[in-house]
Amino acid sequence: MKEEIFKTLFEFNPDPIIVFNAIGEIVLINHQTKILFGHREDELKGKRIEFLMPAEVMPIQSAMRFNYVQMPDKRTMGRDFEILALSKEGRKFPVEITLSPLSNQNDGLFIASIRAISMREEIHRNLENRNSNLQQKIKEIENNTFLASHELQEPIRTIKSLSNLLEDSQMHKLDEQSKTCLRFLNESSQRMNLLVKDLLDYNRIGINSVAQEIEIPKVLEEVKEDLDFLVQETGANIISDGLPQIYGFETEIRALLQNLISNSIKFRKKETSPRIRISANNETHHWHFSIKDNGIGIPDRYQDKIFEMFYRLHPRSQYDGCGIGLAKCKKVVELHNGRIWVDSLEGHGSTFHFTLSKN
Ligand code: ADP
Repeated sequence: MKEEIFKTLFEFNPDPIIVFNAIGEIVLINHQTKILFGHREDELKGKRIEFLMPAEVMPIQSAMRFNYVQMPDKRTMGRDFEILALSKEGRKFPVEITLSPLSNQNDGLFIASIRAISMREEIHRNLENRNSNLQQKIKEIENNTFLASHELQEPIRTIKSLSNLLEDSQMHKLDEQSKTCLRFLNESSQRMNLLVKDLLDYNRIGINSVAQEIEIPKVLEEVKEDLDFLVQETGANIISDGLPQIYGFETEIRALLQNLISNSIKFRKKETSPRIRISANNETHHWHFSIKDNGIGIPDRYQDKIFEMFYRLHPRSQYDGCGIGLAKCKKVVELHNGRIWVDSLEGHGSTFHFTLSKN
């Protein structure tokens, strides 16, 4: 009776099952094996199990089977790398194979349970693999940028201190052209220093941060204190209302507000004091923040571009900067599962919007 039940379970199992011996010869197959591979039972019995695989992978598969038989356990193959099977009419298709000894009596018989991977699963798997390769590449690039920026700090510092030394001790001996060169050298090393610092800051976003409750009004007060000199100098008026307490990464949120507010002051209209209004809307899944200014505005066609690294709309002689600020803002917002965008009319101010997820 028991035997009958096992026979039925074996025969009508929805997956193909093949029993093979220690030298890989097929001993028994179930009904589903015939359907998947298109062979009759007598065409398979006594053949090596690799007979069901394309010729080009046979040697490697028989080596794997040989190793398996020496140390059999239960294992599934074909998840991390592709295994191809071959049907009678020559169709190659990916499979997942679970191997196990038939019993624990060491009787030299093994089971291969085979699952054909459907087209959908295959596409899904390929996408997952590509995605994880891509993530790895991005990590590598970020790592290299971090290392390069770090390495650059030292030579830049040396250039800066040597040019300062020259300026202090030799300036009076130089002619006008050399003085101009020295000034350029000083300015360039200063700029390189800022650029490298910005790149390092960009790379550090989200690293070693711990999420916590953040009182946005308190963070805003701190940002205003940090920008006090600029605020006084330009007569900026910063007002806010309805700012909440949120859950997130405080250092990053402070940098986000600081970047957006300092941009609103920097890109002010000539002879107009900056007026900046910061507000927040409580929406179902996120907070929606807006920072509105009365500055120079941004032409329509650049409104997406400005969030890219190093993208700037003005020459440095007009407005100073490295073009990393908004890229940093984007990274911070994305760290909080949000998005950032701008509404603006050239000459009529800008409103930067960003959302921060409540989860
Ligand atoms: P940076 O300020 O260093 O130039 P950002 O990444 O912060 O770089 O900004 C990129 C560009 O977006 C700026 O060069 C400027 O042209 C534009 N921009 C950013 N904020 C504003 C703003 N509030 N008003 C007008 N233009 C802005």
